[in-house]
Amino acid sequence: MKAHDGMYIGGQWRPAAGPDTIAVVNPADEQVIAHVPAGTADDVDAAVRAAREAFPAWAATPPAERAARIAALRDVLVARKDEIAETVTAELGAPLALSRTVHAGVPVLVAGSYAELAASYSFEERIGNSTVLLEPVGVVGAITPWNYPLHQVVAKVAPALAAGCTVVLKPAEDTPLTAQLFAEAIHEAGLPAGVFNLVTGLGPVAGQALAAHEGVDLVSFTGSTAVGRQIGATAGAAVKRVALELGGKSANVILPSADLAKAVSVGIANVMSNSGQTCSAWTRMLVHKNQYDEALALAAAAVAKYVPGERVGPLVNAKQQQRVRGYIEKGLAEGARLVAGGPEAPYETGYYVSPTVFADVTWDMTIAQEEIFGPVLSILKYEDEEDALRIANGTVYGLAGAVWAADAAEAVAFARRMDTGQVDINGGRFNPLAPFGGYKQSGVGRELGPHGLSEYLQTKSLQF
Ligand code: NAP
Ligand code: MG
Repeated sequence: MKAHDGMYIGGQWRPAAGPDTIAVVNPADEQVIAHVPAGTADDVDAAVRAAREAFPAWAATPPAERAARIAALRDVLVARKDEIAETVTAELGAPLALSRTVHAGVPVLVAGSYAELAASYSFEERIGNSTVLLEPVGVVGAITPWNYPLHQVVAKVAPALAAGCTVVLKPAEDTPLTAQLFAEAIHEAGLPAGVFNLVTGLGPVAGQALAAHEGVDLVSFTGSTAVGRQIGATAGAAVKRVALELGGKSANVILPSADLAKAVSVGIANVMSNSGQTCSAWTRMLVHKNQYDEALALAAAAVAKYVPGERVGPLVNAKQQQRVRGYIEKGLAEGARLVAGGPEAPYETGYYVSPTVFADVTWDMTIAQEEIFGPVLSILKYEDEEDALRIANGTVYGLAGAVWAADAAEAVAFARRMDTGQVDINGGRFNPLAPFGGYKQSGVGRELGPHGLSEYLQTKSLQF
């Protein structure tokens, strides 16, 4: 695969400061497909300087002009969607159909939404005898994971640019090629030099240097809770803004009046998509005791369609494969019962894990409490609605969830009592403008839509 051997800084590809590289591996066949430079603190420093230099002019650019540049970026993402999909498939392992529709498709929607928001958003408001100015926060340090390699980048960069901020991105080490393609798209779209900068590298080196850099005003991080906690502490010590998009352990609550077959099949699809590597996946299915056996039979039939290597890709790397297989073993050791799948890898080559469904899972088991990040679903039994609510809210996380009932009002009444940032009612459609983010330890802040834009703004009030 095509790869740049430098960093995109100040509007051009520049040689990296150090000699080290990162091998990019295709997780479906374990072959090395490219190398990218492993950035150091020096690369990060050069990128932050470029972003600082570009900030005053970009912040002063009229919102309509910023909107036009973001619209141009969206158009490049559309024009290069096949290349994007092939690159995501090569470095993440996602089936090509998923890469086309989701990995290449969703970023177009999100970039488009911020082209419109930049033009229509009120960056000024009147409150009594005051005028409140909503001004860009400054230089953003964006640190992204590999699970949705382009979406995670666009969900930070597009609102930051719309707000008038400039950005330094440190993408995940497993998926740097998609990030390089994004930098090419930025260049083609005619964004001014330094408004967006890319430093590929390792989290504890380049990521850490970016999070701690004095020239960064806001750190926006998506990834594990362990690293998020560390980044939050670093940002807190420096009194700088921070947005954390962390893990989840979301509940799919099927109330007794629901269409059980539909709720189970959509629930299985939700967990198996992207090999279960979705922070908002509904990894705990909650079913009433009287419908439990029927739900297990439906789930077993539904999961059989998810054949590894066809509808389900591998996990991103060997470490994640081992980690997920370890969780499946832990589930068995703690007394859960397999309905489908198991810890054995389905193929010798490629980081595949068998789509796995567990029954007889209790709320306190490890597999019902910790984020597994693989194609693994736990089906839990509840006694009544209060019991379902206790189970649904009984983790440290609160990112997403679903409720199914015969009518929307019944599902909404339950959703109001859930400690979580987003709930799909009876299989509600994805909305790229809906705020996305967590309650409890799932994070701080929101992404997408106008709420996502406001994360990158700070307020100044003028009194008259
Ligand atoms: P991670 O280490 O938290 O990675 C997220 C990003 O942070 C990557 O760019 C990573 O770089 C970087 N990073 C790592 N250590 C850092 C540090 N000390 N300072 C600054 N940046 C740092 O997550 P992971 O290791 O890829 O995955 C582990 C688990 O995290 C998964 O199994 C899953 O449970 C969870 N996860 C959640 C999400 C989500 O969307 N909420 C996404 C991915 C993973 P490297 O790529 O070099 O590590
Ligand atoms: Mg890591």
